[in-house]
Amino acid sequence: MDDSLRELYQDVILDHSRHPRHFGVVEGATHKGEGHNPLCGDRVNVTMALDGEGRIADIKFEGKGCAISQASASLMTEMLQGRSVEDAEKLMGGFLHLVKGEETELAGDDRERLEVMAGVSAFPMRVKCATLAWHTMKSALEGGS
Ligand code: ZN
Repeated sequence: MDDSLRELYQDVILDHSRHPRHFGVVEGATHKGEGHNPLCGDRVNVTMALDGEGRIADIKFEGKGCAISQASASLMTEMLQGRSVEDAEKLMGGFLHLVKGEETELAGDDRERLEVMAGVSAFPMRVKCATLAWHTMKSALEGGS
């Protein structure tokens, strides 16, 4: 990755952490999850409302922690709004591979948007920060409210 691209990615991450998208709590949420990364002290809570067709009609997060954890949560909620649960799980699988520096099944627009987090693969401690929101979303889907 060249330096200008790395700077662009850092700008995107800082922008998301300073101005998080979908920050708050979904009213009448059907699914809730609480996530904690003790290694860094990050916290992310995710609330979602699913419609009758397995689609994420609304998703929001609240949290505090490092820029990576909060930016990743912001980016995730922005991407998952309106997507199917099936898509969300596929994206999560692809994202986990991406941030571990492994071959990823992400493609097209999804890959382009999540690529900004790929740099964390060089920092194993940071991988947990980047994946916290996704694991929390998954546990919300599994647990319901
Ligand atoms: Zn962190």
